[in-house]
Amino acid sequence: MAKTSEEIIIIGAGAAGLIAARELAGQYKITILEAMNTTGGRIKTIYRDGIKIAETGAEFVHGELPITIGLLKEAGLQYQAISGQMFHVRDGQWMLQHEMISNWDQLLEQMGKSPADMTMQDFLDQHYPYAQHPDLRQNIQGFVQGFDLADISKVSVQYLYDEWTNESEKNFRIDRGYSAMTDFLEEECRKLECNVITNTTVTAVEWSAGKVQVQTANGTTFSADKLIVTIPLGALQKNTISFSPAIPDYIKAANDIGWGIVIKTILHFKTPFWEKHSPQMGFLFGETPIPTWWTQNPSRTNTLTGWLGGPPSAAHITQTDEQLLDLSISSLASLCNETEATLREQLVSAYIANWTADPHVMGGYSYGTPASQAAQALLNTGIENTIYFAGEALYNGASPGTVEAALTTGKSVAKKIKGR
Ligand SMILES: Cc1cc2nc3c(=O)[nH]c(=O)nc-3n(C[C@H](O)[C@H](O)[C@H](O)COP(=O)(O)OP(=O)(O)OC[C@H]3O[C@@H](n4cnc5c(N)ncnc54)[C@H](O)[C@@H]3O)c2cc1C
Repeated sequence: MAKTSEEIIIIGAGAAGLIAARELAGQYKITILEAMNTTGGRIKTIYRDGIKIAETGAEFVHGELPITIGLLKEAGLQYQAISGQMFHVRDGQWMLQHEMISNWDQLLEQMGKSPADMTMQDFLDQHYPYAQHPDLRQNIQGFVQGFDLADISKVSVQYLYDEWTNESEKNFRIDRGYSAMTDFLEEECRKLECNVITNTTVTAVEWSAGKVQVQTANGTTFSADKLIVTIPLGALQKNTISFSPAIPDYIKAANDIGWGIVIKTILHFKTPFWEKHSPQMGFLFGETPIPTWWTQNPSRTNTLTGWLGGPPSAAHITQTDEQLLDLSISSLASLCNETEATLREQLVSAYIANWTADPHVMGGYSYGTPASQAAQALLNTGIENTIYFAGEALYNGASPGTVEAALTTGKSVAKKIKGR
């Protein structure tokens, strides 16, 4: 199809922005403005000599997700199912863990019966009072914080129910790393003559129906007929881009959706010392400051990844990488019954991913609150056929907070603009 003379600016070259650009490029003249020096956004694989050594952002494909798997196949990228067992460390002992939460089925049944949406905190207070269920409450809180990055006093029961009942047994990792997928999308966009501009932070948008003018921190100005904003929810909530005329209802809607924070640390060691406890370790959970760890099973690498998600990470997001490494080492030493000195001697390299400290991201990923659905409905409605939003936080389906969520919203905003 021949291109119209209409121009579209997309702010953000993460998964949502890149796929929206690819979908629209045949028909429109596309410019993508990206603040970071690379595309991919919260997908960021670190390579050494062309080999993947750390996924600092997204790592897992959470199930046979149609758009993600479709893209991997199109790009010829191999992926493999993760494996390994889960352990919980109690009083220094590694115990095999079969379920994330005991009485899971009964809990889900009760959640499914909840007539009106409410926060998980209110639900637990009604059905599982603390006095009778202290362990279950602690388990649920840990899971909600760790997996969903959510605050139990804000997250919606309906949201958790939808996510948990749709959870896939199978998770995958991409052999060449997630960035290989966004690199493929970027290449596709360039082939379709999209103008992909990195190192360019948008600071202000002036708009009227059918016209936008975008200002950047380095003083350049771009104009177009339409704009797609795909910046992370945390940045939208904090008004990092000013709109004139202002769009207060949309910013309020952004603030009605939950925004989770996370710290991820990837440590490479000389030997897989944890195999003393179990050569089959997949995931390890405990009550240490960094409570969740995983291996690269089935790949046998000497790598452990630490994860501190949700409200407990708030106390650490202003710490330096060195302090976060100390926290990682002390947590692991305690979980694996090793001394910190031994682990320091074992350590080869470390990558600390504190996305909340990144001014263009300001957190991890979104979660649903009882107000999210109405907020998403508004954000998914374009403003005067001129300003549109996309990105993982606008997704309302069974795989929230994921790359699939971002890709889904990117495709659907393109479809809306093309009027199909
Ligand atoms: C630590 C971590 C682990 C994760 N693990 C997984 C996982 O295992 N599996 C999974 O599916 N998902 C995971 N996710 C979530 C997943 O990474 C995101 O849902 C997805 O990548 C979001 O894509 P997006 O396009 O919506 O946003 P982003 O990728 O954030 O893209 C938005 C882009 O906008 C840019 N931007 C911001 N402000 C401006 C500005 N003013 N001007 C110009 N550009 C701007 C940003 O730099 C960014 O590149 C993880 C996320 C994190 C942080």
